[in-house]
Amino acid sequence: MIPLPTGPVPRRAEAVIVGGGINGLATAVELARRGLKDIVVVEKAYLGSGSTGRCGGGIRQVWTTEENILLAKESVARYRDLAGELGLHTFFRQGGYLMVTEDPSQLGLLRDATALQNRCGVDSEFLQPEDCAKLVPHLNIDNLAGALFCPDDGTAYPFSVVWGYARLAAKLGVKIYIRTELRDVTLVGDRIAGVKTSRGDIATPRLINCAGPWARTLAAKVGVDLPNRQERHEIMVSESLKPFLDPMVISISNGIYFSQSMRGEILGGIGDPNEPHRSDPAHFDTRSQLRFAVRFAKALIDYYPPARTLRLMRQWAGLYDVTPDHRPILGGVPGLDGYHHICGFSGHGFMLAPVTARRMARHILTGEHDAIIDSLSLSRFERGDLQVDAFVVG
Ligand SMILES: Cc1cc2nc3c(=O)[nH]c(=O)nc-3n(C[C@H](O)[C@H](O)[C@H](O)COP(=O)(O)OP(=O)(O)OC[C@H]3O[C@@H](n4cnc5c(N)ncnc54)[C@H](O)[C@@H]3O)c2cc1C
Repeated sequence: MIPLPTGPVPRRAEAVIVGGGINGLATAVELARRGLKDIVVVEKAYLGSGSTGRCGGGIRQVWTTEENILLAKESVARYRDLAGELGLHTFFRQGGYLMVTEDPSQLGLLRDATALQNRCGVDSEFLQPEDCAKLVPHLNIDNLAGALFCPDDGTAYPFSVVWGYARLAAKLGVKIYIRTELRDVTLVGDRIAGVKTSRGDIATPRLINCAGPWARTLAAKVGVDLPNRQERHEIMVSESLKPFLDPMVISISNGIYFSQSMRGEILGGIGDPNEPHRSDPAHFDTRSQLRFAVRFAKALIDYYPPARTLRLMRQWAGLYDVTPDHRPILGGVPGLDGYHHICGFSGHGFMLAPVTARRMARHILTGEHDAIIDSLSLSRFERGDLQVDAFVVG
């Protein structure tokens, strides 16, 4: 059980964090560990109710930009130790990532990415289609052109990670209020002075925006216009089977991904460029759609023909919080003291949160420069310093 307070929120706090997803809770832990007292997390629904509880739990180092590779490498190392740290099984399993393509023109990209990952100390390798069939028996390799395999990548169970962080945060004295909405922000001059929540007002000098797909709405309350938009994505889960599939299989040609969970289920998704509400900034709809079930089932059978007899059990939708270059937004805003962003993670915030939380906690408390936080600041959009990783899938 996680001891969560009920009743009114405290009148004062050293920091208010908005969002009870992985970013909000991991940041609360890292700030508390560094000695900050009186931290309050407000979550408008339940812990993990945003993107975190709807995500695929994938953790991969196979990227094409040095920044993503290095952050993800740091993250894999963190996930290895996280269960011990949180005192809870995270179901972290390193079955590897097998990134395939059907498109021969993408083979150069896979080879270059492998070389860059190796230079960054990631142990990935380029594979021929026949090697893929050895890794995943019955994989249909007829149309495959080649692949990239990284044996250390893996998956973890999002709810365990969220509950583990929440429990540790509570132990460290953080007060986590669920069913508590942040409604407004009070500024005095160019400083954060307090927040108004559905359980009362809190005077605070620090506000940290970990609101995931709602980050843009929250930022607007302090006069900041984020370029983020939310994007609906769905996942489907099958009945449980005996363990047979080690890696996460992911295609950069058509955006399908699937893996086997530790409960034996096949779990996966596929991006849909024609999704009706994909780019509607006012759309927070997370209802499931039959069109996804059909697209996913067809694609899964193409890649893995024995899936023809598999019973699909359930599906759900969640929202990516997407920035123009699919990279997160970290750090403060010049001219607005005490306000920080940790948002915009697109489809890879679960894997990065444990490391970005650490870096952000250090930065918030000491003001120390961090090259990665600097490069992911909001001002990059004004500078036009955008780098899109070619392995953003979905
Ligand atoms: C289908 C899908 C698959 C994904 N797969 C992966 C994957 O395999 N690997 C990976 O790394 N990432 C994946 N992601 C992305 C990942 O889920 C997110 O990047 C990550 O969970 C973001 O965490 P967060 O804490 O920033 O946001 P969230 O988990 O969305 O948390 C934000 C919280 O803020 C709360 N909130 C918002 N506004 C307010 C307010 N005003 N007051 C109080 N509370 C508020 C919300 O209720 C919410 O719980 C996937 C996402 C989806 C949707």
